Amino acid sequence: MNAIESCKLLVATRNAGKMQELLVLLADTRYNLLSLDETSIDPGFEVEETGSTFEENAILKAEGYGAVAGMMTLADDSGLEVDALGGAPGVLSARYGGETLDDLGRNALLLENVSGLLEEDLTARFRCVVAIYIPGGRTLTFDGNIEGTITHDPRGDNGFGYDPLFFFPPKAKTLAEISAKEKHEVSHRGYAVREAARYLRSRGESVC
Ligand code: IMP
Repeated sequence: MNAIESCKLLVATRNAGKMQELLVLLADTRYNLLSLDETSIDPGFEVEETGSTFEENAILKAEGYGAVAGMMTLADDSGLEVDALGGAPGVLSARYGGETLDDLGRNALLLENVSGLLEEDLTARFRCVVAIYIPGGRTLTFDGNIEGTITHDPRGDNGFGYDPLFFFPPKAKTLAEISAKEKHEVSHRGYAVREAARYLRSRGESVC
């Protein structure tokens, strides 16, 4: 296969679930997606997510791994912002309450931190920023949001992370009560990745 028909795109993740989601969402581009584990590239380090915004962290990951690999590289960063908590957990969403907590522990902590507040005052959003690093070129970003409220009554078994706590008014359900397909259609990640896919499809046929 020549370079014009298929271009390689490194995806800066070792998370198989995220990779699977991206393979579906980017299937109609001419890019052949490779995760960090599918390349022989061993950066010898993990890029630290030291940014104070999702955008900074997505760029850090795309440029950090992309520069070592010398490849076009896509990275994303996402998380939950609860207005009544000043935007927390925010960029610390994956590490809220420390490294020892799992999803259930983080959800319990979040509920504890909003106890006493009315659900209608618990406006929140998931945000996702996708960054694409182009060797010798610019790093582009694409973002997506989904607005909802935090419920005191976790519901649903689908999805992951904070999904059971995130009530999405247009469906009158939590994100853990809707199917993966429905979630892709409305989610922060679905939106940001579709914007990135639009960009990838718009790139000239002769460039990778
Ligand atoms: P990362 O973007 O892989 O670093 O993930 C950040 C963290 O944000 C995840 O570990 C989850 O805790 C949370 N998060 C991001 N997107 C979602 C989502 O769609 N549902 C539930 N939690 C999410």
